[in-house]
Amino acid sequence: MAEVQSAFEGAGAVFDMVVFGGGSGGYAAALRGAQLGLSVALVEKDKVGGTCLHRGCIPTKALLHAGEVADTAREGEQFGVQTTLAGIDMAGVNRYKEGVVSRLYKGLQGLVRSRGITYVEGTGRLVSPTAVEVAGTRYEGRHVVLATGSVPRSLPGLTIDGVRVIDSDHALALDRVPTSVVVLGGGVIGCEFASIWRSFGADVTIVEALPHLVAAEDEASSAMLERAFRRRGIAFHLGARFSGVETTDEGVRVLLENGAGLDAELLLVAVGRGPASAGLGYEEAGVAMDRGYVLVDGVCQTNVPTISAVGDLIPTLQLAHVGFGEGIMVAERLAGLDPHPIDYDGVPRVTYSNPEVASVGLTETGAASRYGADRVETVVYDLAGNGKSQILKTSGFVKLVREKDGPVVGIHMVGARVGELVAEAQLIYNWEAYPSDVASLIHAHPTQTEAVGEAHLALAGKPLHSHG
Ligand SMILES: Cc1cc2nc3c(=O)[nH]c(=O)nc-3n(C[C@H](O)[C@H](O)[C@H](O)COP(=O)(O)OP(=O)(O)OC[C@H]3O[C@@H](n4cnc5c(N)ncnc54)[C@H](O)[C@@H]3O)c2cc1C
Repeated sequence: MAEVQSAFEGAGAVFDMVVFGGGSGGYAAALRGAQLGLSVALVEKDKVGGTCLHRGCIPTKALLHAGEVADTAREGEQFGVQTTLAGIDMAGVNRYKEGVVSRLYKGLQGLVRSRGITYVEGTGRLVSPTAVEVAGTRYEGRHVVLATGSVPRSLPGLTIDGVRVIDSDHALALDRVPTSVVVLGGGVIGCEFASIWRSFGADVTIVEALPHLVAAEDEASSAMLERAFRRRGIAFHLGARFSGVETTDEGVRVLLENGAGLDAELLLVAVGRGPASAGLGYEEAGVAMDRGYVLVDGVCQTNVPTISAVGDLIPTLQLAHVGFGEGIMVAERLAGLDPHPIDYDGVPRVTYSNPEVASVGLTETGAASRYGADRVETVVYDLAGNGKSQILKTSGFVKLVREKDGPVVGIHMVGARVGELVAEAQLIYNWEAYPSDVASLIHAHPTQTEAVGEAHLALAGKPLHSHG
């Protein structure tokens, strides 16, 4: 993109909105603001689209799809199809991945241009409650939206050298399939990379300090993923704390507090992401912060009346679609509309590993602490009873959590492709549907969506293809 492209005329003019950071949160605010007639400047030092498009959601999902193709080729025999996996051409995989990213990037650049947004390319700094400065030029706004996102975290004393000890940015740029990897962190990012590399043929071991993989999910989902990973030959150490790493002739030796040592070619550090806020002028402008996160109220307003903040920079769920939602909400508020605060429990969450884990709403434990254990009912519908899942040869379940005599408050799913089922699940949660409301809806046969329908039939007391 050219340095500054503007439909907004006049030196020294004041924009309605200066958006600081062009990732999911920032560009969504900019696009929606411009759509509502606001004059918008968008400041970005790298590429519009941010982490999600260039180093996150999109490239990882392309790799996961390539992994699925590899698994399908390897397992064709199960379906009577004679296929063999000759190998992984990482240059070809990367070309495919980059092709997807660059098409989406072009489209996004076109959108920003067509909405008349002033795009400012360069490293910015907040220099007052109403201005961001880039290369000596001040961009003044009636409002500023902070959206500088997040960066990979490490652990104290653990240096990421980008060669043997890598983070997700390096992992996405690898030009080879490692023979073996230790993945430090069994959260979403760690499990997705473990899944990718296993599909590509690497030996993978996950080290997780918490008692479960994807520990924020319902315990049943974590246990199911652990079973599936074990079957796929992905090793993991749960409740295991990292104590150090040494380099060896072959790669690294990862040491655990329990005395174990794990040898591998690479160590991927996937212990989470921290806010990108240091040295950007936020404290100096009076913005209240906590451990680097910018603090906001329910509509993403900071304590400084002219400053809002969205995305990974604030302590809400670190998901691209949360950034989109927050960006849209802020733009609408600044344009004088009255948007609803976001119900973060109602945001769908997906881990795109093989198998996938998807959920919305409360876990069983979360519901028990909100309503009391005796006020919670659950049902688990096993995908063994679902025709399409049997055709795909996937196992897993749909688990529902309900407030007794009340609506469905949590939906948790594990299995191939269940990420696509979360669309219905989120409507059920967010519309506060009762099991009987969903039970009366006919689901197409044979689809995996039927499993969602069947689970509700069971919870409504009239199971069809399950014992109840
Ligand atoms: C490996 C990985 C996989 C992921 N997969 C998913 C997924 O499948 N689904 C999902 O929902 N989420 C996923 N995420 C999370 C998602 O990418 C983030 O939640 C999302 O990108 C956050 O958007 P953001 O706008 O807050 O920040 P970012 O996307 O990080 O954007 C911030 C932008 O600000 C810019 N910036 C920072 N400082 C300055 C400065 N001083 N001057 C100018 N510009 C600046 C940066 O260059 C960047 O472009 C994934 C993340 C990773 C790392």
